[in-house]
Amino acid sequence: MEFWAAAPPAALRRPRSRHDGAMATVLVVEDESDIREVLRRYLERAGHAVLTTGSGAEALRLVATADVDLVVLDLGLPDVEGTDVLGEVRAAGRTPVLVLTARSSVDDRIRGLRMGADDYVTKPFSPAEVVLRVAAILQRTGGPAATTEQGVLVGGRLWIDEARHAMRFDGRELDLTPTEWGILAALSGAPGRVFSRYELVNRVRGYEYAGYERTIDSHVKNLRHKLGPDGATVVETVLGVGYRFGLRTDGS
Ligand code: CA
Repeated sequence: MEFWAAAPPAALRRPRSRHDGAMATVLVVEDESDIREVLRRYLERAGHAVLTTGSGAEALRLVATADVDLVVLDLGLPDVEGTDVLGEVRAAGRTPVLVLTARSSVDDRIRGLRMGADDYVTKPFSPAEVVLRVAAILQRTGGPAATTEQGVLVGGRLWIDEARHAMRFDGRELDLTPTEWGILAALSGAPGRVFSRYELVNRVRGYEYAGYERTIDSHVKNLRHKLGPDGATVVETVLGVGYRFGLRTDGS
């Protein structure tokens, strides 16, 4: 498609995968209810079915009986050592595990990965990062679905799949008008670069833009609304000039 002035940087390309990271059943094992619930909310928003427990023993029972696609496992559990849970999940089959750990020593990380964790996140973590890592693990491991998809991740949070004409933000599918798509595609194609309204109108013309320069503002307003609370961060206003994509490509 024409909105990429050039091919996206190699670092933003993601490999072909059988699974797009959506609609998996994720088991969250975490005894701190606040963390458990925030992870549930984020993972559900990303389209996953979420089971939760604060008990290692219950986790093992669920892995054995429920159709779990991935386990998010806190290593510090009250009843069973998290590493024992990890070992048993590993011994039981191929369910991938993302480990949450408050322990930051390199030894623990290496031990966790040696024991078969697919990835780990050190507390405190951002729930959005957990969602992204879950998606990455599901992609690597094949996951439950068998869709072919290719796309790019921009700013660590915006996923653009040109082939399917789909965009997701923090794992949530965006339902965009052609004009909104065109604006976001143009901005995210050159993160940090400022686009004037005139430029944006020209960029989105290919997406059947109907309107004048000044109406870009109302499209941006709707687009931000769809992006959610961080909408104005993603589509940043540059006073007197226009708009730019405000997420840094390293995802911070
Ligand atoms: Ca804990």
